[in-house]
Amino acid sequence: MEHPLRNAYLEAMGITQWVVRQPPAPPEIAERQAVAASAAQPQAPEPAAVAEPVTGHDAPPSWLTEAPLPEEQWHPGETTADEFEPHAPRPVVADLGWDALQQHIAACRSCELHRSRKQTVFGTGSQQADLLIIGEAPGADEDRQGEPFVGRAGKLLNAMLKAIGLERNQVYIANILKCRPPGNRDPHVEEASHCRPYLMRQIELINPKVILAVGRVSAQNLLKSTDTLGRLRGRTHRFGADNTPLIVTYHPAYLLRSPEQKAKSWQDLQQVLSLLQK
Ligand code: SF4
Repeated sequence: MEHPLRNAYLEAMGITQWVVRQPPAPPEIAERQAVAASAAQPQAPEPAAVAEPVTGHDAPPSWLTEAPLPEEQWHPGETTADEFEPHAPRPVVADLGWDALQQHIAACRSCELHRSRKQTVFGTGSQQADLLIIGEAPGADEDRQGEPFVGRAGKLLNAMLKAIGLERNQVYIANILKCRPPGNRDPHVEEASHCRPYLMRQIELINPKVILAVGRVSAQNLLKSTDTLGRLRGRTHRFGADNTPLIVTYHPAYLLRSPEQKAKSWQDLQQVLSLLQK
């Protein structure tokens, strides 16, 4: 049977060959098949029950084969140490609406990252979105443009969304941190802790049906876990008081470096689609 949506996704991801999952055979047939296979090839390894899609590395789309953007040299901000308030009170934003929240974040100096940012990166998309995508922190492009997930990773994210029938402006996209960590290092625990109330307020305001955590840092922060991304993906977590379904998948920037993981990201997005359709 043809699956236009799946085919479009795989094509967008550069996957041109795959093996269709076969339904399990009834036990008695499976047993006979196993015996026959064993007799025919006694030394052969046990066949996998489900074959993973095969990535088509021979002819990926051109935007997948471009060299990664060079990391920009880090230029510290001009502010002085006096402007950093290490013991500043945690932001109280529980009652703020969208505009007030955005203004509050733009003026935030709760952690040292305010000293080196070009601007805060608040978030983008539909404030009534069913799907909330949460990444790690702004990179160089995001810091410059004030929008999350731009550049090559952003284009790949757009293609992934399109493959499940969503445009970028139909979802909401935010980050764990609103300011760029120098050199794109991982956020420090204290930075994430200071910034968390902002994201929590955004989640409250959006009240999404599904949350998609992209990348290890996002998943570990949201789930308060130290597990690897490989252990966190592949199941439905629950987030917050509303038990919002939360799916973990790979960051598009990682997928650009590791295209062999794209098939797994497709599985994750299929799970997102299934939850959105409930
Ligand atoms: S990262 Fe978050 S807590 Fe730190 S200065 Fe930026 S907005 Fe404030």
